[in-house]
Order: sequence, then C-alpha cells, then structure tokens
Amino acid sequence: MTKLNGQRMDANVVVLGTDNVGKSALIVRFLTRRFIGEYGDIESLYTHNVVVDGREQILNIWDAPYSQDLSFESLMCEKRVQWADGFVLVYSICDRASFNTVSRLIQTIKTAKDFVGFEKMPIVIVGNKRDLHHRRTVLSEEGRLLALSADCQFYEVSAAENYHSVLMVFHGLVDRIRESKVSVKKLAGIKSIVKSMSAVFARRRTDSL
Ligand code: GDP
Ligand code: MG
Repeated sequence: MTKLNGQRMDANVVVLGTDNVGKSALIVRFLTRRFIGEYGDIESLYTHNVVVDGREQILNIWDAPYSQDLSFESLMCEKRVQWADGFVLVYSICDRASFNTVSRLIQTIKTAKDFVGFEKMPIVIVGNKRDLHHRRTVLSEEGRLLALSADCQFYEVSAAENYHSVLMVFHGLVDRIRESKVSVKKLAGIKSIVKSMSAVFARRRTDSL
C-alpha cells in the first residue's frame, strides 16, 4: 500500500465530510489550481505527483460520496478507511451540522485505538468556504479547539478564492504521513530488536535449566 524506499513515497488520502461542504472543490483546486463551481457527485480517485521539501511523492486522493453511517464498525469495514494513510475532514463554516459530523468522525477515529497505527493516523481538519464569513455559524476557535483536542492540523480555507491555503492542507498532510511512516518504520526496527533479544534470553533460560 505505502512505499518508503529512499526518497519516494506513496500516500493515500481520503477526503471525508457531508455533502456540499466543498470536498470536490478543494481537491480540484489543489490538482488544477482552478475553481469551477459545480462538480457533480462522481466518485473519483486521483493520482498526483507532488514535490514536498524537495522530495517527490505520489499522492492518491479519494473523493467519495458521503455515507450516513458513521458508526465505528461500518467505518472500519470501509475499504477507503483501510486504504487511507491520512484523512482530510471537511466542514463548511456556514454549516453547523457539517462541523458536528467532523467532530463525530474524529471521535470514531479516536475510538479505534486498538487498531495499530490508527491512534496516530494523520488527520487534517478543514473549515471551508471562508469567503462566506457573513454567513458563518462555526467560529474559527471551535475548529482550532477540536483539532487541538484530537492532535490534528487545522486550516480555514476558501476553495473558491484561495489556492495557497488549499495547497498547505495537502502538503501539511503529506508531511505528517511521511513522519508517521518513518516512525512506524523505526518502531518496526525496535520491535525486531526486542524480539531477537527476547529470543536470546529465552534460549539462555532453557540452556540453564
Ligand atoms: P462536496 O459535495 O463536498 O464535494 O461539495 P462540492 O465541492 O461539490 O461543492 C458544493 C458547493 O459549494 C458547490 O456549489 C461549490 O461551488 C460550492 N463551494 C465549494 N467550495 C466553496 C468555497 O470555498 N466558497 C464558496 N462560496 N462556495 C464553495
Ligand atoms: Mg463532491
């Protein structure tokens, strides 16, 4: 699924959030630098080459329709969740219900502590439609607090008006994914050292019996 050989890495990113928050708009903005207004509901998987910190990365982005069932069991069974190395969770700053959904998604993901690597799953929370501040119903502080409590990154952006902040979202996530891959690799290294040491001690114990 994910490769970390030398300088190259594949990162699988799933973009989640309720309908109409601008998931497709964010992805299309990131990939093409353009805002086209209407996107339809077609499920899409994009592959994109990015250079972050001078390193070439292959980024796969899954733009999937929203499913109502956010229970832990159904989420864990979902192919896209198993496939993911990181998540972009999107709400609209004008849509309180969409923020509540992101909050529930975070809780669901956090209850997955028993799943190896899931507790530290890189997540970025995005409050979109910042240009519609006159219709705002979710304060920036609320988004920031949610991110702080869940150890996620947080951005408020406008897919309609700003390319740079959208770029930051995806590049920030790629960075976090890379860090998590490196620490998983390190952990695997430590685990194998511990394993071989305990094998040696186990042998010594049986020798001395
Ligand atoms: P999705 O269902 O989450 O994929 O949402 P879409 O990307 O299809 O966007 C839903 C609607 O919101 C479309 O009409 C977009 O033009 C609009 N939209 C998306 N992002 C923004 C934004 O940053 N500002 C404004 N004003 N409208 C946006
Ligand atoms: Mg869409």
